[in-house]
Amino acid sequence: MTEDTGFFQEILTTLETANGHLNLPPAVYERLRTPRRSLIVSIPVEMDDGSVNFFKGYRVQYDFARGPAKGGVRYHPRVNLDEITALAALMTWKCAVVDIPFGGAKGGVQCDTSRMSRSEIERLTRRYTYEISVLIGPETDIPAPDMYTDEQVMAWMMDTYSMMKGYSVPGVVTGKPVCIGGSLGRRKATSGGLVITVLEALRHLNMRVEGLTVSVIGFGNVGLFAAKQFSELGAKVIGLADSKSAIHNPYGIDVDMAAAHKKERGMLRDFEGADNLTIDELLAVPVDVLVPAAIEGQIHAGNVNGIKTRILAEGANNPVTNDADAVFRDSGVFMLPGILANAGGVVVSYFEWVQDLQRFFWNESEINEKLKVIMTRSFKEVLAISLEKKVDMRTAAMVLGVKKVAEAVMVRGLYP
Ligand code: NAD
Repeated sequence: MTEDTGFFQEILTTLETANGHLNLPPAVYERLRTPRRSLIVSIPVEMDDGSVNFFKGYRVQYDFARGPAKGGVRYHPRVNLDEITALAALMTWKCAVVDIPFGGAKGGVQCDTSRMSRSEIERLTRRYTYEISVLIGPETDIPAPDMYTDEQVMAWMMDTYSMMKGYSVPGVVTGKPVCIGGSLGRRKATSGGLVITVLEALRHLNMRVEGLTVSVIGFGNVGLFAAKQFSELGAKVIGLADSKSAIHNPYGIDVDMAAAHKKERGMLRDFEGADNLTIDELLAVPVDVLVPAAIEGQIHAGNVNGIKTRILAEGANNPVTNDADAVFRDSGVFMLPGILANAGGVVVSYFEWVQDLQRFFWNESEINEKLKVIMTRSFKEVLAISLEKKVDMRTAAMVLGVKKVAEAVMVRGLYP
């Protein structure tokens, strides 16, 4: 067995809370507490110096009662089965919250891509794809990018799978480059969906976006585009952080210039338009909207008491531990849980898959309009449950998502 980091247990605790409002039949509840399939693979890769390294990879299909399993692939030194199982469970509830016809999955490889060459990453990706090919496919399980994987990694996955089949299978992954069947709008979809939910929350709270202060932790696909969009809407992005550094300017940071600085130097530190801080120091700067968009568990019992925000929008999956969540709940922070707030990525992944299957592509404004309809509807459904049951938004989102998965499990019945 792989180490138990406690992450999956955190998810089971939120499931238990949701079940307190749903009272599912015991067998259905047990089904939802258990991943459906977990695959561990060993990935031999010839390194540039001629040696062979063995990497550990995973693919977990948590549930596919509502449709093919769907979820990203993460490359990170700390990837383990517990984490991938937890993330696969979150994907299951997330797809149900936004009501797209997918189950939940997640994959990952324990590796440090910052120490690998591009061709080593390509060989790793191709062999990982081969090893998990017993599970993936457009009808069964569709991977996508996650931390430290990108469009190029998806292109290699799609090519490897297609080579094995003998013909092109664009629908096997989403988040691909547009020239091989990727969708317009996918790159900014997660941040775009997050911003839509924040705007809905502001409307509910009678607040305006203009002049709001925002901090974003994590400056990759989700964080960078979220920061850019908040700036474009007239909010003031006063704090940014990546894995190595954090920067702060109370008068607002020029996000494009910070991105250019990071591209050149590899980190945000020493950007001349802001002061250097540690990530915990930045977290302690009061803001109107805080967007953790890096990694799970970043806000925990040890640092939550220093955080002052009105709205917390989870760009990352479970960046707030259950302990910290309880503190936010007590202090009236309006929480936008990741299974709602960061669902825009999987929604546009769904659009990409549909376009690939029908070989007919939509323009970007059609994609963005459809994304807005789904995100707005989902926000309203979660808010309605929150108000009706007098529960926080995380519990409300879990109630909505788990209920839909349970309905599918029950109506399909037990095989054989
Ligand atoms: P990415 O690899 O593009 O970027 C990750 C960013 O986080 C980088 O800027 C990195 O420097 C930073 N980072 C890493 N560790 C950090 C730490 N400990 N503290 C501060 N910053 C740190 O990844 P991404 O695709 O933007 O994903 C970020 C998070 O959002 C992940 O939790 C992922 O699961 C989640 N998510 C991503 C998508 C998507 O479409 N990409 C969708 C839903 C959720």
